[in-house]
Amino acid sequence: MYHVNEKGYYGEFGGAYIPEMLYPNVEELRQNYISIIQQESFKKEFNELLAKYVGRPTPLYYAKRFSEKHNTNIYLKREDLCHTGAHKVNNTIGQILVAKHLNKTRIIAETGAGQHGVATATVCALMGLECIVYMGEIDIKRQAPNVARMKMLGATVVPATSGSKTLKDATNEAIRDWINNPTDTHYIIGSVVGPHPYPDMVARFQSVISKEIKQQLKEVEGKENPDYVVACVGGGSNAAGAYYHYLDEPDVGIIAVEAAGKGINTGESAATSVLGKAGIIHGSKTLLMQTNDGQITEPYSISAGLDYPGVGPMHAHLYASGRGEFISITDDEAMQAGLELSKLEGIIPAIETSHALAIFNNRKFKKEDIIVINLSGRGDKDLNTYIDYFSL
Ligand SMILES: *Cc1c(COP(=O)(O)O)cnc(C)c1O
Repeated sequence: MYHVNEKGYYGEFGGAYIPEMLYPNVEELRQNYISIIQQESFKKEFNELLAKYVGRPTPLYYAKRFSEKHNTNIYLKREDLCHTGAHKVNNTIGQILVAKHLNKTRIIAETGAGQHGVATATVCALMGLECIVYMGEIDIKRQAPNVARMKMLGATVVPATSGSKTLKDATNEAIRDWINNPTDTHYIIGSVVGPHPYPDMVARFQSVISKEIKQQLKEVEGKENPDYVVACVGGGSNAAGAYYHYLDEPDVGIIAVEAAGKGINTGESAATSVLGKAGIIHGSKTLLMQTNDGQITEPYSISAGLDYPGVGPMHAHLYASGRGEFISITDDEAMQAGLELSKLEGIIPAIETSHALAIFNNRKFKKEDIIVINLSGRGDKDLNTYIDYFSL
């Protein structure tokens, strides 16, 4: 019910709204992705890389002091311990293997904050494929360490100099490139967004997260299902992975945490589901923040990874159907929760993740509840933001 249907829709959301010229590329992927990822040879290589290169399974850690503080039972799924420091690499490994099976020799991607660019450059180095990453000129200046990482990994970073010189423009450049290079190039999209089959393909690659949670929870609690599974949502890929094997299990509450920025009603936020209306972005129909005449509004969040005006179609459907509970968390609440986890557990989380950790002031749980929070990434990349915020 909550998975994609044959036409590429989650309820009324999803589909492939793409220019005619892109149709052959997307159609080639759509026709082949399921059969490729179900091949034994694919599964073997994917699982081996996840184990030996990424470091999976990642631990499911019972956060004792954090649980005591919030008077409930909180497990953290440690995606921050993945190679490169976040969940994104699960997807880029999967997609580069798909690209190889389709005999593609050239990889393109777009990136905003640079995290997806780094995850893509990493797997291109691993496989020895050419890597071109489009990035807004302004983002290149803002995210210098990630640009340096990509270059060191052998990628070419191409500045997008049109429009607002940020993610939207980088996406346009990547699409233009793909139209011009339809036969040898695969476009690695970094979240559960974009035209069908991307949201479903990316969700499948990230679904290893909930597959592991089930096994690990069974070992420690004697049952596979927690009462709640919680994740932050930018485009929604770490959340889709954490929810995937629980979507059709009604006893598991699904909680999605979005960035309220400076506050939902301030005009500076990224709380897409609450503020958004149905529209088309990045080739799919979903909820997005827009003006009354349909112009996409600039999102804002202190965390670069949540600063996206749309949300994946799976999440739009979870919101519209009521299956998911959506909570928005301000910059201040997230920063405090990030500091709190650091002091109580010795884990410095990415600021994206800090949003998911901040729900306990607004949302009360029972003492006996079991809650799994997906700890999507580590905070090293955000140290300067933490330093400035807390004057450390
Ligand atoms: C990119 C990123 C996110 C947001 O992306 P999703 O596709 O919503 O998961 C969240 N957390 C971390 C650590 C990230 O790097």
